[in-house]
Amino acid sequence: MMRIANNKLRLLLLLLFPTLLWGNSAPMFHIRQNAKGCFVEIPKRLINRDFLLAARVMTVSSPNNKVKLYAGQRLYDPVWIRLKYDKEQLYLLRPDSKNLCEDTTHLSYPAYARNAITPIAESWKIEQETDSSIVVNWSKFLSEPIEGVDPFGGKTSPGRSLPQLNKILQVDVHEKNLEVSVQYGFEGTTQPFLTTIRKSLLLLPEQPMQPRIHDARVGYDNIPKRKFNFDTPSIAAENYITRFRIVPSPKDVRSYLQGKQVKPQQPIVFYIDDAFPPLWKKAIRKGILDWNKAFEEIGFKEVMQAKTYAEAGPEFDPNDIRFNCFRYVVSDFPNAMGKHWVDPRSGEILQADVLFHSNVIALLRKWYFLQTSAYHPAARTKTLPDDITAQLIRYAAAHEIGHCLGLEHNFKASYAYNTEDLRRPEFTERYGTTPSIMDYARFNYVAQPGDDVRYVLPPLLGVYDRYAIRIGYAYLSRENTRTVAGWIDEKQNDPMYHCGRMAPSTIPTDPTVQTSDLGNDPVASATYGIRNLQQILTQLPEWNKKRLTDNPFEEMPATYTDLQQAYFDHLERVIPFIGFSDEVSGKAVEFLWKELLGGYNFLRTDAVCKYAGNPTEAIIKAQKTIIEKMFGRIIAERISSNETPAGFTYAHYLEVSANYLFTDKTPDIFTRHLQESYLQTLQSLLTEARTSSFSVLFSPTVSEHLTRIREQLTTNPSTWNNYLKNKIQ
Ligand SMILES: [Zn+2]
Repeated sequence: MMRIANNKLRLLLLLLFPTLLWGNSAPMFHIRQNAKGCFVEIPKRLINRDFLLAARVMTVSSPNNKVKLYAGQRLYDPVWIRLKYDKEQLYLLRPDSKNLCEDTTHLSYPAYARNAITPIAESWKIEQETDSSIVVNWSKFLSEPIEGVDPFGGKTSPGRSLPQLNKILQVDVHEKNLEVSVQYGFEGTTQPFLTTIRKSLLLLPEQPMQPRIHDARVGYDNIPKRKFNFDTPSIAAENYITRFRIVPSPKDVRSYLQGKQVKPQQPIVFYIDDAFPPLWKKAIRKGILDWNKAFEEIGFKEVMQAKTYAEAGPEFDPNDIRFNCFRYVVSDFPNAMGKHWVDPRSGEILQADVLFHSNVIALLRKWYFLQTSAYHPAARTKTLPDDITAQLIRYAAAHEIGHCLGLEHNFKASYAYNTEDLRRPEFTERYGTTPSIMDYARFNYVAQPGDDVRYVLPPLLGVYDRYAIRIGYAYLSRENTRTVAGWIDEKQNDPMYHCGRMAPSTIPTDPTVQTSDLGNDPVASATYGIRNLQQILTQLPEWNKKRLTDNPFEEMPATYTDLQQAYFDHLERVIPFIGFSDEVSGKAVEFLWKELLGGYNFLRTDAVCKYAGNPTEAIIKAQKTIIEKMFGRIIAERISSNETPAGFTYAHYLEVSANYLFTDKTPDIFTRHLQESYLQTLQSLLTEARTSSFSVLFSPTVSEHLTRIREQLTTNPSTWNNYLKNKIQ
């Protein structure tokens, strides 16, 4: 009965208001393809409107063919374009997304405008014109790679193009977007390379979203703007954060502002690839929906929605620019990435997606095993139980979705927790390993056997993550930078809300901003981590009794080499703290020398050598890297420029180190190599220092130190000491 009534109503409404039920869903262009080309009829109402032009990989013949591209991937950000025409031609304009002047009525504006005209990137002959539209032939435009749009060049080099293979496969036009599938052929570097690319042209909203200004204290991806101001006159740099347009419907604005929870006008829907194994699909759905907790705290319910491709409506197409997808990439490259495409005028995220590689689970399992199995029996098996695999995937999915929502990494987060708290079950149960899943904190390597810690992962969403969503997404009836800055100011005394992005450097400038570290006591965290690795090496034969060979690592998620690497990673994470503060510097140096002069011995017991082979060479090599970092330019400069006479000085650092290193009268092969690397590193520092402005700070100290060591070696002559002596010039 209901159905009939509904249908009757629909028919009636349809007769009265034809656009009421269908909306204005007419396609934005009309396309006619024939032997002469691909003719596009563009309505004049869309001239001067803003569009995005983007491209995505649909299929590739092989990602291993020196073209590192995977299905679903995009290489470039979309390009902002506008169309303009005159009597003969249609032009494609490329507006400047960075420089702008908002004061268009100012008397000086014409002087600005004369220096800021919009360049033309391409033009086409107008084939036909009517009162309301113009027709152009876009065959070439759509069927040939466009530089900076199609995903070739730079890192991806498919070789010489084979134009005879380039062709348009399909064209779809919707109300706000044009979707074109194109085939491209290339010679390839080792074998021919074929790919299908989806080019999308998306009509941008007439009214750009209100931008929110980026504050570096909270990690958001952002787009830079340089605004010209006539009054000063000067240019103000301002960055807009990238975020979805999450706003209450007009009817709900009042309720929202009164503190009631409302649904957003437009939710964020993610479509999950049906190709994922069912267990993964479920876990990914949870990882997507986890973010709802953060949105609920700022008054929005059901913001995040998840559907599988199969659950999507008939219009769904994973390559269509309108849909956010969580894509499965089957490849041996262990990776996952979350990216988004934004409106360059406002920072509004228009589309986001995750590329989740099949082998990412191997990486997660390896970390889980090396970091937790010492005290966490569930991690000791060859294949992890389903519930744990699901937890790992949910965590990785939620992290990538964080990127999709605009969030940057926060590598400082884990430093907010006391190292000792990570050993308390009630703490880890509630807070996990870090206040932010946008950190690379991974799993709890600090907890020890007997601590009874059972929850070993990052939290489902951390304190920082929920706060970051407030900063980016809390709705304001009018954007107000001061309000947002006020929310951030409030939290500055609490390390749980701190954020740090790592600058690319071999040794992080701020040692509290590191990947894969845990806790605020670097030496204690590393010591616990190493103890756990020792446990694994000792206990593994017992845990893995049923193996077929003598190698207890057989079929385990990690190899002996991985464990060795994990040990040296613990050492590397302590190095940047030398020169950070007097107290930490001393502790760090003591810890590092203790490890370098014997701490590693658990890696080379007779029992281990039996199945792992002799690791001497590998250990010597890894130790050399540690010495080079400890005594290279960066740490030398750091200590020298921060030192106070009463504190941890560079001269003291060298003296203490030499005392550790040169006291043994009969050094073994490891110590001999350490001694040699130490002298070599300091010697090359002197050479390098001649060209550095910091040299005045530390090079006299190095010279003096080396002279003293030379004397010391001379007074204790031996074949080895004579050899070493000659290393000092
Ligand atoms: Zn990430």
